[in-house]
Amino acid sequence: MQISLKETAAVLKSVQRIVITSHVNPDGDAIGSSLGLMHALRALGKEVQVFIDDDIPAAFSVLPGYELIGKPVEGQSIPADLLVAVDVSLDRIGLVKEAVTAPTLNIDHHITNDGQADKLYLDGTAAATAEIIYHLIEELGVTCDKDMAMCLYTGLATDTGWFRFSNTTPDTMRTAADLLACGAVPNVISESLEQRPYEEVQNLAAAMQKIELLADGKVAGICLDYAALQEHEAPEGLIGMVRVIEGVDIAFTLKEKEPGLCRVSLRSKGIDVTKIALQFGGGGHVRAAGCSIEKNCVEARADLLKVIMQVLEEEK
Ligand code: AMP
Ligand code: MN
Ligand code: MN
Repeated sequence: MQISLKETAAVLKSVQRIVITSHVNPDGDAIGSSLGLMHALRALGKEVQVFIDDDIPAAFSVLPGYELIGKPVEGQSIPADLLVAVDVSLDRIGLVKEAVTAPTLNIDHHITNDGQADKLYLDGTAAATAEIIYHLIEELGVTCDKDMAMCLYTGLATDTGWFRFSNTTPDTMRTAADLLACGAVPNVISESLEQRPYEEVQNLAAAMQKIELLADGKVAGICLDYAALQEHEAPEGLIGMVRVIEGVDIAFTLKEKEPGLCRVSLRSKGIDVTKIALQFGGGGHVRAAGCSIEKNCVEARADLLKVIMQVLEEEK
């Protein structure tokens, strides 16, 4: 059932023990929104824990509360009155779904949200879930402090490509300004997130050698099979390097994370790439989406290209 922001605040106020979670393969918005909401609810006197079923990249250790993020283990049962899933539908929270059996509240900005949660606050116009969480904090009557601001600014900045992407709205900028006024330090966040180990920069160079240009230059992508990923780990932000190629509308990366399991990222400069991701059970936004394909790299690439070409054809 979809609810309003006011109702979302009321649901949170009505319970004491809250577990917050987000998607596997967590990004800045997933981590920042989870921790930002955790700080706000703790300020209200709630008992709050964040559990994410994945490793949290060390670059996010700059965020207050990073060390408090738990990872559920097989068979674990985590007591709670409410499970809050942010920046995700309930199908991408991994083991947290089994570990927490409480009623579910979902706060999201993905237009592809599956609506499976007991209660859903969805705003597809928000640039990031962090933007929603900021307004929720206002609705809760909590004073935004530096810890909350650092986390939420990170979510907002990363999901908008540092305020460059088409999802950046006047509200995004106003929210960012408010977060700065609340104590967020933008250069501390960006410096922590942009630095990479030397090996990763070299891996980026290796991966870039594999860019393929297709469909008269309208599509570009990089496929890294399992063997290639054993040799060089996939660098962060690879898709962004493909997206910038002149003339390219659809950019993709395909990484065979486990033999027979490929993780796909899609970006576009206009075409709705959720149309592609949804065909493989994934989702996302018009210009940034993703999915997984349970096939080896060669087969997954063929399936993906077929759908990309279909969508390109429909757009003509
Ligand atoms: P990524 O390429 O992982 O940065 O994801 C781009 C966007 O698509 C993000 O907003 C993700 O949350 C979303 N997304 C990625 N993979 C999936 C998936 N399997 N199901 C639903 N949404 C996804
Ligand atoms: Mn996300
Ligand atoms: Mn997001």
